[in-house]
Amino acid sequence: NSLWKSVPKGPPDAILGISEAFKRDKNPRKVNLGVGAYRDDSGKPVILPSVQKAKSLIIKSSDHEYLPIDGLAKFTQLATSLAYSNASPLKDHRVASIQSISGTGALRLGMAFIQRFYPHSRRVYIPNPTWGNHKTIIQHAGLEFQEYPYYDPVTKGLNIEAFLNEIDSAPKNSVFLLHACAHNPTGVDPSEDQWKQIQDVMARKQHLAVFDMAYQGFASGDVDKDAYAVRLFANEENPIIVMQSFAKNFGLYGERIGNLSVVCDSKQESDRVLSQLKILARPMYSNPPIYGSRIVSEVLGNEELKKQWLVDVKTMADRIISMRNALTTLLKEKGSLHDWSHITKQIGMFAYTGLHPEHCQELMDKHHIYLTMDGRISVAGLNQRNVEYVADAIETVTR
Ligand code: PMP
Repeated sequence: NSLWKSVPKGPPDAILGISEAFKRDKNPRKVNLGVGAYRDDSGKPVILPSVQKAKSLIIKSSDHEYLPIDGLAKFTQLATSLAYSNASPLKDHRVASIQSISGTGALRLGMAFIQRFYPHSRRVYIPNPTWGNHKTIIQHAGLEFQEYPYYDPVTKGLNIEAFLNEIDSAPKNSVFLLHACAHNPTGVDPSEDQWKQIQDVMARKQHLAVFDMAYQGFASGDVDKDAYAVRLFANEENPIIVMQSFAKNFGLYGERIGNLSVVCDSKQESDRVLSQLKILARPMYSNPPIYGSRIVSEVLGNEELKKQWLVDVKTMADRIISMRNALTTLLKEKGSLHDWSHITKQIGMFAYTGLHPEHCQELMDKHHIYLTMDGRISVAGLNQRNVEYVADAIETVTR
C-alpha cells in the first residue's frame, strides 16, 4: 500500500525519447536527426569562439551570488535591444523585461502572466503544427489552446490565406502565438510581405501577438533580418510579448538563458507589469541562473565580441543551409523521383521533409537514422561524413 501506487507511468517525451533510442543503438553509422541542437561538421557540440572568449574574461570577477528576481539588469537590457533594436516602445522605455529560464521558461512565465492579467481571453491560438511543448505550457499555465492553419502539406509551404482568415475570424483581442523566425517544426516562415499582411489583420482585430523567438540569427544568419516581424509589430504599436532564447544562437542550451519582454503603453505601466512578473517568478524558481546571463551580456556589451558573435551565428546558419543544399542535391543524384526542393526553401534548424511515419520507422529500424515521427529532421545533425548515407537511406525508404 505505497502512497504512489496509483501513479501511472507516463509516455517518454516525443523528442527526448528519440535521443534515448539513439544512445542505445550500437551501430557505428547511426545518425541523430531528432533533437534540435547544433553540431559542427564533425558532429560535435560547439562552444562559439565569442562565448569562449567571454568565459575567459568573466572568470575572475565571477562570484556565485543570487541574481535579483528579474535577473541581471545588463543582460535584460542588452537582450531586449537585440530583439527590438531601436523600435519605438524601447526608445520610450516602456518594455518590461525579465530574465527567464531559457525560451521555455519565458513562455511559461509569459503564459502565467496572460492567465492572471489578460482581460480578454483564456485561449491562445497556436500554429498547426507547432513545437510540441507549446500546448502543454499553455495548459499548465491554466489556459487553453486552439490551432490555426499554418502549414500546407501539399505545397510544403505556408497556407497564408487560411492563416489570415483565421486571424480575421477569431474574436477581437484574441491571443496569437507566432514563431518570430525559423518555425519549428516546419522551417516555413512568412515572407516580409506576408508578415505585413499578418500584422495588418492582427492590428485591425486588436489581437495580442506572442512571439516565440528561439532562433534569432539562426534562421538567416542575420539577427536583424530574423527580428523583422518583432520590430514590425513593435513599431506599428501592436500589443506584443516576446520570448527569447539564447540556447541556439549562443549555443548555451544547458545554461538556460532567456528573456521575456512585455510591451506596455507607458513607463509607469511597464513598472507595474514588471512588478507582477517578479511576483509570478518568485514562487516558481525564485531567481534565474547567473552564468548564462553573464556570458551573453559580456558578448553583447563588448563591441569586439559582438562582432565575433555575429560571425559565429552566421557560420552556424550557413553550415545548415549548405547541408540543406547537399541533401537535396544528393537525393536527386541518387535518382529520387520526388521533389525535395522544399528542404532548401525551408529555414532554420529543421526541415519538414514530408516523410510519413512508416518511412521514419524504417529509417530508424533499418538505417539507424533517428528523427521524429512527423518527418522533421534537425539539419544540424547532418555533416559531410553522413549526408550521403542519409540521402541514400531516404531515397531507399521513399522509392
Ligand atoms: N520555442 C521553440 C519553437 C523551440 O524550438 C525551442 C527549443 N526547442 C524553445 C522555444 C525553447 O527552448 P529552450 O527552453 O531550450 O530555450
